[in-house]
Amino acid sequence: MPIVQDPVCGRDVDTDAINSHVDQTTSGAPESDPSKGTKRFHEGTWYYFCSLACRMQFVSNPDEYVTN
Ligand SMILES: [Zn+2]
Repeated sequence: MPIVQDPVCGRDVDTDAINSHVDQTTSGAPESDPSKGTKRFHEGTWYYFCSLACRMQFVSNPDEYVTN
């Protein structure tokens, strides 16, 4: 049960749980149940979010949340 941090709000998210219910391609296809968390492919990496709201914040300004 790998846990990663939501880069926007800092909450712990379970990648297995998200991968099991989110059906999304790298091109951003529709998701099945975003209320339980979602993810986003950005510059070669999957980022996981607790909610669509966090993902939208990330998408609008990814440089603010991506640390290299
Ligand atoms: Zn969040």
